[in-house]
Amino acid sequence: MVQNVTAGNIVDIFDSESKIAITDPVYPVYLDTNVMGGRSGEFNKETGKYENIIYMPVSSENNFIPELPQITPDVIYLCFPNNPTGTVLTKNQLKKFVDYAKENKSIILFDAAYEAFIQDEDIPHSIYEIEGAKDVAIEFRSFSKTAGFTGVRCAFAVVPKTVYGFTKSEEKVSLNKLWNRRTTTKFNGASYIVQRGAEAVYSEEGKKQIKENIEYYRENAKIIKDGLEKAGFIVYGGVNSPYIWLKVPEGLTSWEFFDELLEKANVVGTPGSGFGPSGEGYFRLTSFGTKENSIEAIKRITEVF
Ligand SMILES: *Cc1c(COP(=O)(O)O)cnc(C)c1O
Repeated sequence: MVQNVTAGNIVDIFDSESKIAITDPVYPVYLDTNVMGGRSGEFNKETGKYENIIYMPVSSENNFIPELPQITPDVIYLCFPNNPTGTVLTKNQLKKFVDYAKENKSIILFDAAYEAFIQDEDIPHSIYEIEGAKDVAIEFRSFSKTAGFTGVRCAFAVVPKTVYGFTKSEEKVSLNKLWNRRTTTKFNGASYIVQRGAEAVYSEEGKKQIKENIEYYRENAKIIKDGLEKAGFIVYGGVNSPYIWLKVPEGLTSWEFFDELLEKANVVGTPGSGFGPSGEGYFRLTSFGTKENSIEAIKRITEVF
């Protein structure tokens, strides 16, 4: 099923009272679409959190491995390799979530948008590598980061026929059927030209070009990660991911670091606090630039900090 902005549209098939769990920090689409869908409750300015959202904090304190939620959610969003932290989960770590979802009748929405960046062998590319996931998980795949389709908009969702939701009276409902109904009602598929472009991704030439492209970004990630580490920064991600998640220097907030970086080094990045309260004190850099600019940016950051 070809679909765009899948991660944002999927919420249409869930009840407006469904309890949603997200990691903190998080890819903002998961949160914002649920705010729009009326599932978030009020925003608490003091905590920076919505009252009805279940947050699973990830930081250096737990090695960016989310703990199982304490309140049972209906829907759990997981994105690995992660945006924004660039970190990954092993099969065993992911299995805990699959088992939990099974036990608690939760649905896992697994976003594998950055799967093509995985280099380590023991890191799963798909949640369906985990036993039992076909009964509890929907997986999103996108051409955006794999093949540079951002803006072209082409992605797909895998909704196994074995995944069921439950109504309030505990009736089983096929999520595959619901998603199909939603899709044929609101969206009739990506345009033909876009589909042909996506098809070319799987051709021999396409595969070769994509591999080269990803290698190029990988090298940038290594340049950024190694350069920052040499300059004394504490850095996460950047190995199985195009993102580098760094700890901002002691005494600065994410936004203060943003200002200093912009004004003194003329380098732009994303403040971690923009991804959620637990992102405070962190900063995201991306390898989706040219090699020349990546080298230059690291040179300048190193000169300033
Ligand atoms: C970029 C990105 C996507 C891709 O979304 P599209 O709508 O397919 O462009 C999905 N998930 C995450 C976490 C992303 O960063």
